[in-house]
Amino acid sequence: MLRARGVRKRFGDTEVLKGIDLEVRTGEVLCVIGPSGSGKSTLLRCFNHLEQIDAGRVWMDGELVGYEEHGPAGRTLRERHARDIRRQRERIGMVFQRFHLFPHRTALQNVMEGPVTVRKRPRAQAEKHARELLDQVGLADRADHYPRQLSGGQQQRVAIARALAMEPTLMLFDEPTSALDPELVGEVLGVMRDLARSGMTMVVVTHEMGFAREVADRVLFMDQGAAVEAGPPDELFTAPRHDRTRAFLSTVL
Ligand code: ATP
Ligand code: MG
Repeated sequence: MLRARGVRKRFGDTEVLKGIDLEVRTGEVLCVIGPSGSGKSTLLRCFNHLEQIDAGRVWMDGELVGYEEHGPAGRTLRERHARDIRRQRERIGMVFQRFHLFPHRTALQNVMEGPVTVRKRPRAQAEKHARELLDQVGLADRADHYPRQLSGGQQQRVAIARALAMEPTLMLFDEPTSALDPELVGEVLGVMRDLARSGMTMVVVTHEMGFAREVADRVLFMDQGAAVEAGPPDELFTAPRHDRTRAFLSTVL
């Protein structure tokens, strides 16, 4: 489903990703953990070409993301046409720490927006699907509320429903609960857990080790721009192979 090979990214003099290799299979849930500044967000952003990579390749379902092979033997990369990049991004849903809902639209309108304006779906069909999604995230009774009338956890659940409305095949989450009051974290993680159980392919950057342990098929530990190690949560949390992983885990567990 998602494959990265030798992904490198630098900002000025700092190399933020130092050659990342990674595979996420269909239906798999990968949690990404690691210290602040280790490159987790940047890596996610490379998956849908919100960042231009300096070297390496990212494929979604066998298709190069953001670039086309170019030159003799496809040795160099040329950026795709904006239209193709948009098409590729539509298959990838993204949920951030901050919810970025449209403040002057209701929960229902926020969820319908993408399908109607981008996908050109008939309004009635988009509304029906949006109501189903709001029901799925436990907000059927909040459809007509505006973001300011919703708690942070509810807003984040609307953001998840909005991403799902585009019918993505991959969902990327970047610390979706970090901006929430502690008592609201559980409801969002619950929705994500249900989504994982429904078979959605997910990459989740998180500091919620309990969630990673319970829901992830594999956990990836990143440090200083490198994918240090990845493995099933049972192995990574109880018997990490690298000192850096052990040191990090001792600070968060
Ligand atoms: P956190 O846990 O704090 O979210 P992170 O692991 O997500 O951290 P990134 O946001 O990917 O880390 O950042 C990795 C490094 O790249 C950091 O040193 C950061 O300062 C730097 N960086 C990220 N984006 C940019 C940018 N647009 N311009 C310059 N430097 C950047
Ligand atoms: Mg980050």
